[in-house]
Amino acid sequence: MTAIFFKTKVITIMSKRDYYEILGVSRNASEEEIKKSFRRLAMKLHPDRNPNDKVAEENFKEAREAYEVLSDSRRRAAYDQFGHSADGMGGFGGPGGMGGMNFSDIFGDIFGDIFGGGRAGPQRGSDLRYNLDISLEEAVFGKTIELTIPTLIACDECNGSGAKKGSSPVTCKDCGGYGQVRIQQGFFSVQQMCPTCRGKGKVISDPCSACHGKGRRKQSKKLSVKIPPGVDNGDRIRLNGEGEAGEQGAPPGDLYVQISVKQHPIFERDGVNLHCEVPISFITAILGGELDVPTLDGRAKLKIPAETQTGKVFRMRGMGAPPVRGGTKGDLLCKVLVETPVNLSHKQKELLRELEKELQKDKTNHSPQSSSWFARVKKFFEDMKF
Ligand SMILES: [Zn+2]
Ligand SMILES: [Zn+2]
Repeated sequence: MTAIFFKTKVITIMSKRDYYEILGVSRNASEEEIKKSFRRLAMKLHPDRNPNDKVAEENFKEAREAYEVLSDSRRRAAYDQFGHSADGMGGFGGPGGMGGMNFSDIFGDIFGDIFGGGRAGPQRGSDLRYNLDISLEEAVFGKTIELTIPTLIACDECNGSGAKKGSSPVTCKDCGGYGQVRIQQGFFSVQQMCPTCRGKGKVISDPCSACHGKGRRKQSKKLSVKIPPGVDNGDRIRLNGEGEAGEQGAPPGDLYVQISVKQHPIFERDGVNLHCEVPISFITAILGGELDVPTLDGRAKLKIPAETQTGKVFRMRGMGAPPVRGGTKGDLLCKVLVETPVNLSHKQKELLRELEKELQKDKTNHSPQSSSWFARVKKFFEDMKF
């Protein structure tokens, strides 16, 4: 429901209450305090909430008048100086005076968010959202996808107007095309959506039989959507005007294709970069070697240098995803994991023990991490006084 109030004649009542008293604020209250207080009172006393309550109506009128004066700095100053006698001096509301402010301005401001704004004319079509699951490969390389979308399309029989072929909608007689009518409600003039044309301002006297005057009908629409290379999870692609058709020739809505990228068994994506983990044997880690690693462009060779530690990340430039708005492709980051061998035979274990003895024989440090680690542990225990 929409309610807009128009300024009514200010009736001078003898022995008026003080405006500040009415609003329950001090004489030096700020504009914001006055507004807040009036809003609270208006919510309580509003005639829509108190039908047939004469006292509430009177109190509402009083509060409204107080607010009308106190919310206008010049009128408030005049009131502060002359009190209610300012009325008689033409200070308030007279033609050519400082008044003449349209009350709907105040109420639009105060009640705008309570009653909502009015609207006229046929409504624009709704936006549609389509959730599209794609693979990582499709996201990286892009793809053209055929979508079938259940939607409302413009009626081809009447070209979306809703009026029978050869006729056209006519201006609504009840509201003169404005879409709103004013209804007298006691003291107040309340503006409402025109019930005849339902706010559209036009009526169809001879409706199209194919769409029953709606100008649109349900139908599945096939669309070919280009997914640009580099799209990521959560991206939205907007297709202008591909949403539902508008009412009776009003503009259509938009279609939003919401992208979600499925998990990949090998790669994890972080923006334009891809990450993967590559297990390597401890022999390869020690002696170095070359590995076949998967990339989205196919197989690639990864050179593992000798003495590679576990967790080392190798960057393969340009093997990631392109930025969706163009630019340099990201990288593929391969993290190697050195594996501890399992299921060793007796002989294999013997060879390892022999190797261990050999390693201990020379005075060389073969464990780059552990010596510094043990030193740090030693210091920790000393500091903690264990
Ligand atoms: Zn039609
Ligand atoms: Zn109307």
